[in-house]
Amino acid sequence: MDFTIYYIGQEFKYQIESTVKLFYPAQTFKHEFLEKKPSEPIEGNYILTGIKQDKIIAEIKAEEKFLDKSQIAEKSWDEKNLCMSICRLVFKLLEEFTEKTPSWGILTGVRPVKQLGTILKQVDYNKTKADEILKNKYFCIAEKRELAFKVHDVQENILKTLDKNKFSLYVSIPFCPTRCAYCSFASQQIQHKGTNANLINEYVDNLCKEIEYTGKLIADTDKKIDTVYFGGGTPTSITWQQLEKIMQTVAKSFDLSKMREYTVEAGRPDTVTKEKLEVIKQYGAKRISINPQTLNQQVLDAIGRKHTVEDFFNAFSLARQVGFDSINCDIIAGLTGDTNQSFFDTIDGILKLDPENITVHTLSIKRASNLNAEKNSAQQAVKTHTADMIDYSQKRLLESNYLPYYLYRQKNMLDNLENVGWCKKGFESLYNIFIMEEIQTIIAMGAGASSKIVKDGNIERIFNYKIPLEYNKHFDEVLNRKNQILQLL
Ligand code: SF4
Repeated sequence: MDFTIYYIGQEFKYQIESTVKLFYPAQTFKHEFLEKKPSEPIEGNYILTGIKQDKIIAEIKAEEKFLDKSQIAEKSWDEKNLCMSICRLVFKLLEEFTEKTPSWGILTGVRPVKQLGTILKQVDYNKTKADEILKNKYFCIAEKRELAFKVHDVQENILKTLDKNKFSLYVSIPFCPTRCAYCSFASQQIQHKGTNANLINEYVDNLCKEIEYTGKLIADTDKKIDTVYFGGGTPTSITWQQLEKIMQTVAKSFDLSKMREYTVEAGRPDTVTKEKLEVIKQYGAKRISINPQTLNQQVLDAIGRKHTVEDFFNAFSLARQVGFDSINCDIIAGLTGDTNQSFFDTIDGILKLDPENITVHTLSIKRASNLNAEKNSAQQAVKTHTADMIDYSQKRLLESNYLPYYLYRQKNMLDNLENVGWCKKGFESLYNIFIMEEIQTIIAMGAGASSKIVKDGNIERIFNYKIPLEYNKHFDEVLNRKNQILQLL
């Protein structure tokens, strides 16, 4: 339907549209900026919000229904307070109008726990006061506030161990056997006609050169590696010989003697072999991910994972046999065709395996994914009871003694929910916390990777080319950009 947002005497477009989208996630809007509220009645569906004399006002007319709210504007408000107050008024208006309550309230950012940390600092670490702010100013529901505090408590202990002279290393292997329907990463399908063996060989050679080059740069500093993370894509989608070459280069190029954690995302179970697991173990990675996403075969088929539930169980048991005692399993709530019962069975089935980490994602329908292109599938996904799935996962994981240790949100997540990393005590992934809370420098290698240099509370980013073809083509520039790291560290 056509829908216009009118901004009266203010231009807080981004913040107000983000608040409106909590209630109308799939709607596109026209935007009109006016100095005064029109004196004539407005045609069509609209939300109008802004300043009228000494008041802030918000009104909505949609599908023949109308509602308005207003509030006296305080003289002491600065721009930020004015913007927040208008967003709160819009939230309350739409909550009543739609009879929906977004569980994170107007906390729309990617990192709720980081925002909680800022609030705690403002109230001198008084948890009761911070909770009141989350409740009364951000309108977060009790369960989400409790979850955010739990994650914050776990992270507090980890952050005490943070050494400013250490950094994490990220290595990107941006290839996958095939593309999952919901994927929006710039990952290249190996079984695609455009991905030939030469491209991958050239990529692996260049990646090793980038690792060696960066290792030499870092050797001249007093910085030491804290954690290493191989992500993608699916790092195990290349051959064991290629994986060995890369891991060997990391071991030769960097001093790993002070390293606390080494992770390789095996990811897709159909790429896991004994040889690859042995290589991973031999070069010091103790933590791996094997991701089923769901234990419902029909759902796996519908999302184009091209592996079976059995493949997942086989890969998991092979990893145990090879000796991995820190395994993560990713699952997704809200997948096309999944039902509450089949999601509950997935959670219970994974719990039976007793992995050290379970990461529960909420489906996010991003622009680049095939799922978004298939409008019908997306609509079907939207209609599932994703919030019930997430509630069940949190209840079962808590009663099975898993701790929530990192949490983040993405745009366009179903029901505006969250992704949560759960672990058994002592199995918190340091890298996941560091990247999410942006508190440690991450030096990243390979296509699609971006380094984040964290210094004195500031973050500088250095981007690599996104896809392997560009990365190979502009490889001189890739090395050139690496030189910036030395100036920023
Ligand atoms: S395995 Fe992950 S990165 Fe690869 S296509 Fe699927 S969702 Fe994307």
